[in-house]
Amino acid sequence: MPASQAHIRIERVLSFEEARERVSAQAELLRQLPRKGEQLALLSSLGRTLAEEIVADRDFPPFPRATRDGYAVRTGDTRAVPAELKVVGQVRAGGELPIGFSQLERGQAISIMTGAPVPNGADAVIMVEHTQRNGDSVRLLRSVASGENVVPRGSEARSGTPLLNRGTRISHPQIALAAAVGRSKLNVYSRPRIAILSTGDEVVPIDSLPADNQIRNSNSFSLAAQVIAAGAEPIQLPIAPDEPGRLRELMAQGLESDLLLLSGGVSAGEYDLVEDVLSDFSAEFLFTGVQIQPGKPLVFGRARSGSHGSWTCFFGLPGNPISTMVTFELFASTLIRALSGDTAQSALPGTKARLRKEIRTKTGLTRFLPATMSGNWNDAEVELVKWQGSGDLAAFARADCLLVIPPVGEHFNPGEWMTVLPLEKW
Ligand code: AMP
Ligand code: MG
Repeated sequence: MPASQAHIRIERVLSFEEARERVSAQAELLRQLPRKGEQLALLSSLGRTLAEEIVADRDFPPFPRATRDGYAVRTGDTRAVPAELKVVGQVRAGGELPIGFSQLERGQAISIMTGAPVPNGADAVIMVEHTQRNGDSVRLLRSVASGENVVPRGSEARSGTPLLNRGTRISHPQIALAAAVGRSKLNVYSRPRIAILSTGDEVVPIDSLPADNQIRNSNSFSLAAQVIAAGAEPIQLPIAPDEPGRLRELMAQGLESDLLLLSGGVSAGEYDLVEDVLSDFSAEFLFTGVQIQPGKPLVFGRARSGSHGSWTCFFGLPGNPISTMVTFELFASTLIRALSGDTAQSALPGTKARLRKEIRTKTGLTRFLPATMSGNWNDAEVELVKWQGSGDLAAFARADCLLVIPPVGEHFNPGEWMTVLPLEKW
C-alpha cells in the first residue's frame, strides 16, 4: 500500500489573499521568537537585519551647514536691495574661519562654499548667482529670508537620538547612516538556515548525465538562489526519492533547520507522498492548496522536529520549476524575512503597467504569469511571454516581471492598467 493512502487528506484550498494572510500571521508569530546575533564588518551586514539600535553619536549636521555656494549674510542687511556688503573672508567645506574672526557683523558678508559651517552672526546664505563680486565687496541683487540655504545644527538628528530600530533590514541607505555615525561594525541577526529538499524519482543531480526519462534538479538551485537573495542561508539536502522511508529520513533532517522547503510531491498523484510523510511529524496543515496559477498545489504548515520537539514551518512547493520559484516569492520569502528578524510587514513589490495585447482567460484563479515590461518608468507597458506552462524555464528566464491576472474577469483589453510584480527587485 503506498503511503499516500495511510493518512486522511483534508483539503484546505484558500484564495490567494487568505493564503497570504495565513503566512503573514505565522510570520508574526516567528518574529516574536528570540534569535541569535553576530557582529559583522559594516559592508558584510548588507542584506542582514539589525540586532541593535543605531544612535546618533553627535548632532546631525554637527554645525549649521551651507547648502549652496554664495555668501553668508545677516538677513537684516538684505532688506533693501541691491545692498553692498564688505567681504571679510572665505570659508569652505572642511576649512577654518579666518584667524581672529569671531562673528559676522552688520554690513559684512563671508564667501562660503556648500558643506561649510555658517559662521556665528550669519543667518542665511545668498546664492552666488544672486550676487556681483567687486573686489572687497559684494552686491546682493535680492533679499534672503532667515535660514535660507542653511541646515541648522542638529535639525536632522540630535546627538543620542535613535536613527534605526532593531529589526531594520540593512540596505545601502542604512549602510550610509551607520557609516555616518562611525559604525564600522554592526550587530546583526544570524542568517536563518533554510533546508531545501527536492523530491522525485525522476530528479537527478545537475552534474550527472540524465537518462531520457530524468530531469536535472534545477529547483534546489533556484530555491537556494532565492533563499540567499532573501538574506538567509540555504542548506541543500540530497534528492529524496518518491519512497516514504528515505523521504522521512531527509525530512527529519530538514525539520532541524529554521524552515523546510520541499519541492515536488504535493499534487494528488499516487507517488505524491510529501503530505503523508509530513503527517508522521505531527504536521499541522495551514493550507493544502491556493487558488493561483502557477502553484495551485502549494502546501503550508508546521511540523514537530525530532531533536528539539518544537515546531518548524514547512512549505510543500509544487515541483514544476516556475511554480516553485513563483510560490517561493509569493509566500516563502515573507516567512524568511520574519525569520531574519525583519520587523517590516513585507508587502509584495507590486507596480502598475498598461496591457499591450488583450488577454482572454478563465475566472477562478489569481494568475502570476511571466511577462516583460517596456516603455517609460511612469507609463510602463506589459506583455505576456509566450510559454509552454509552468515547466518552461527558458520562457521564464526571458521574463522580467509577473503579470497579475485577478480571479474575476475573463477579458482584459489593451491599455488596461494591470498589477505587475517586477522580478529584478526580488
Ligand atoms: P511534482 O510536483 O513532483 O508532480 O513535479 C512536477 C513537475 O516538476 C515534474 O515534471 C517534475 O519532473 C518537475 N520537477 C520536480 N522536481 C523538480 C526539480 N527538483 N527540478 C526540476 N524539475 C522538477
Ligand atoms: Mg514528483
